[in-house]
Amino acid sequence: MNVLLIGSGGREHALALALAKSPLLTKLFAAPGNPGTAQVATNVALDVADARAVIAFCQIQNIGFVVIGPEQPLVDGLVDALEAAGIKAFGPSKLAARLEGSKGFTKDLCAKYGIPTGAYARFTDRDAALAYLRDKGAPIVVKADGLAAGKGVTVALTLAEAESAVNDLFGGAFGAAGAECVIEEFLDGEEASFFALCDGDKALAFASAQDHKRVGDGDTGPNTGGMGAYSPAPVVTDAIAARVMDEIVNPTVAAMKAEGCPFKGVLFVGLMIGEDGPKLIEFNTRFGDPECQVMLARLEDDLLGALLGCAVGNLPEKVHLSPKTALTVVMAARGYPGTPKKGGVIAGIAEAETIAGVKIVHAGTKMHGENLVANGGRVLNVVALADSVFDAQNLAYRGVDALDFPDGFCRRDIGWRAIGH
Ligand code: ATP
Repeated sequence: MNVLLIGSGGREHALALALAKSPLLTKLFAAPGNPGTAQVATNVALDVADARAVIAFCQIQNIGFVVIGPEQPLVDGLVDALEAAGIKAFGPSKLAARLEGSKGFTKDLCAKYGIPTGAYARFTDRDAALAYLRDKGAPIVVKADGLAAGKGVTVALTLAEAESAVNDLFGGAFGAAGAECVIEEFLDGEEASFFALCDGDKALAFASAQDHKRVGDGDTGPNTGGMGAYSPAPVVTDAIAARVMDEIVNPTVAAMKAEGCPFKGVLFVGLMIGEDGPKLIEFNTRFGDPECQVMLARLEDDLLGALLGCAVGNLPEKVHLSPKTALTVVMAARGYPGTPKKGGVIAGIAEAETIAGVKIVHAGTKMHGENLVANGGRVLNVVALADSVFDAQNLAYRGVDALDFPDGFCRRDIGWRAIGH
């Protein structure tokens, strides 16, 4: 089968590496892809926001299955357009992608179906939102309803911070995504992510992971797309994973079916694990980046077969992941997450990959003549697989040290919380 993979980040290079191993695969295309995907797929310069162009490409290349990495095409309805043209796709429909695209939709669904999450209220009016804040007090969390690239959330420790977040939001800081706001109870505990494959009817637990969002060591400085991750997350014990499936994932799959918008694809459950167990912070409707890189480093079964199972209502009984720990360190370009320096030359990838258990996954890279150069904020992922999180951390930093990327930087403490466990 010919497969088209949509996206260009580290997540997509990791997906491409796993898809390329499938016995079901004939030819893999990536749109737009990156120099990493180019090693295992044919990169194509398609405008993935243009569903008609994607469908035309699929028809010409006889694509049997489209795997969509990022959230925006899902929220825009690319799966619906592909299915209407008779092309199978991995990911939810536009209506099902509201689990990620509208925080208010998800909170209402949780309230209706008894899915554990923080108390909340939705507002389209600034004064009503401010009055609610004054009534509830801090700490409290203010969120733009729609997609805001991780920037639409303020965890306010004081009332003044919360008020200014509401004022920014209704002042237009997030455009249409902030036309509505959700104000939410502050949840205390340890954050982790849990991923389940879903076929609209059933769900299959995939893996847990934890990431590091802050740019600096010790989880300090501004938020980023993620500076590193590891899988499994020690805080997600077997007992917690079972509760997440019973209390959050399975009820959500049943609820979406009952609402007439069955969820197919991967459900990414953002969790806060506190004293009374796991609570939902948010859903995403695609693999996380960089969580995908570490989960797939542990995958021992065929990815393409499992993703196809989600699309056609035929989930496998189980997917096997190695009990080892995978850990990734993100190499970013200087200036990230502000204005990253583009064009910095990268060398040493082959040297890093001579270390057993180390793989370099490309994100924001491009070829410039003979050189591989930085072309984005998050540039490379150094992924290591080892028997323990401690060993995986050591191995990943050996990989980092083998790279020659003078305009890059990374955190030196990825995995600290897991090692503490
Ligand atoms: P991202 O793209 O970074 O996942 P997002 O915009 O989808 O962000 P959320 O995941 O809902 O937003 O929130 C971002 C972060 O804010 C969470 O990872 C968590 O650290 C914190 N957060 C969100 N909601 C709460 C809450 N109710 N209590 C405590 N912290 C919260």
